[in-house]
Amino acid sequence: MARVALVSGGTRGIGAAISAALKAAGYRVAANYAGNDEKAAAFHADTGIPVFRWDVSNYEACLKGIAEVEAELGPIDILVNNAGITRDGMFHKTTPQQWNEVIGTNLSGLFNMTHPIWNGMRERGFGRIVNISSINGQKGQMGQVNYSAAKAGDLGFTKALALEGAARNITVNAICPGYIATEMVRAIPEKILSEKVLPQIPVGRLGEPEEIARCVVFLVSDEAGFITGSTLTANGGQFLAG
Ligand code: NDP
Repeated sequence: MARVALVSGGTRGIGAAISAALKAAGYRVAANYAGNDEKAAAFHADTGIPVFRWDVSNYEACLKGIAEVEAELGPIDILVNNAGITRDGMFHKTTPQQWNEVIGTNLSGLFNMTHPIWNGMRERGFGRIVNISSINGQKGQMGQVNYSAAKAGDLGFTKALALEGAARNITVNAICPGYIATEMVRAIPEKILSEKVLPQIPVGRLGEPEEIARCVVFLVSDEAGFITGSTLTANGGQFLAG
């Protein structure tokens, strides 16, 4: 029986590409989303991938949602923590709510989604976890103190958990995308995108969601079993982390 993959924020943007690529690679896939029912329904109609609505920043909601996925598809072998949000603004204008929302989804979401699945992976002696961090977690970004902090936290989470999972054949890796053409990036004003963002990207273009999806398909494969605790950078040469 094909392995089961759960993709958080898997109905739109990078997540939708990941869900579709995993399905194409032969996995049984479930896609979680937060609240955009219309997009989720269209994604389901297009791909046939079952969609499940819950908020990854809420631990109880994750317990319930994951139980529903496992009742429908079976135990989760592969978890892609992709759900993410931005609440940008200079630090002096950032509200506690903007801080908490971004940390809640982008960092606590990893705990909330992984913790309920972890023991099952340990017992079965197999697991693949891929966390979608960001270039801005590696280098920091003005106007994104909350987001950069959360995404840097994702990298620490990845490394520490990789050490705990290694003896049980569970790999935990992170991907740091640069600027990818999704709604999150289209929310950046066109002038800033063409005058400030694109000139910083040596390959001269935004990345495509499918380019990140292919990284995920590789990291969850049996062939990638020796890769754990690593950060895969996919940013068109914009930031060359050591
Ligand atoms: P999008 O805004 O296009 O899609 C976000 C997805 O996450 C949606 O499916 C959304 O659901 C879901 N989501 C958001 N919050 C929650 C939540 N609390 N609970 C469950 N699901 C949630 O984002 P991208 O595809 O652009 O980004 C995907 C990931 O990649 C994020 O972690 C982002 O930080 C990261 N990233 C993106 C980059 C980019 O250039 N786009 C660059 C670097 C990193 P719904 O549709 O219901 O709102």
